[in-house]
Amino acid sequence: MGDKMQEQKQRKLRLDKEGVPYAICPKCNKQIYNLEVVEQVYITYDVSPDERDELEYDEVDRETAWDWDYEYKCIECHETIATSEEEAEALFYEPEPEQDTAQEKSESPAHDNIG
Ligand SMILES: [Zn+2]
Repeated sequence: MGDKMQEQKQRKLRLDKEGVPYAICPKCNKQIYNLEVVEQVYITYDVSPDERDELEYDEVDRETAWDWDYEYKCIECHETIATSEEEAEALFYEPEPEQDTAQEKSESPAHDNIG
C-alpha cells in the first residue's frame, strides 16, 4: 500500500551560459529572453478646465479591455507563441524528457499474419 509516488515535476529552466533564463521561440527558433504582452486598457478621465482655462484630464478609472486573454508574443518575430501564463512559463523550461524511466519499447507481437 505504498504506491503513492510524489508527482513532482522536475522542470528545469533553460539557462544560458550566464544563468539567465531564456526561451526558444517555436516560430523563429531564436533565443529570446522576454516575451511581449500587449494589454489593452480603457482609461476614463474626468475632464474640466483648470485655472488657466486649459482642459485637465483626471484619470478616474482604468479597465483592462481583455479578460486575461493575453497573447504572449515573441519579441523577435512577433508571432503569438503562448496564450496563457502556463504556456508562457513552459517556454522557459526544458522540454520534459521522453520517459527516461525504463519503459521498454513494447515490441508488438506479430500476430497479424496476412496470408
Ligand atoms: Zn519568434
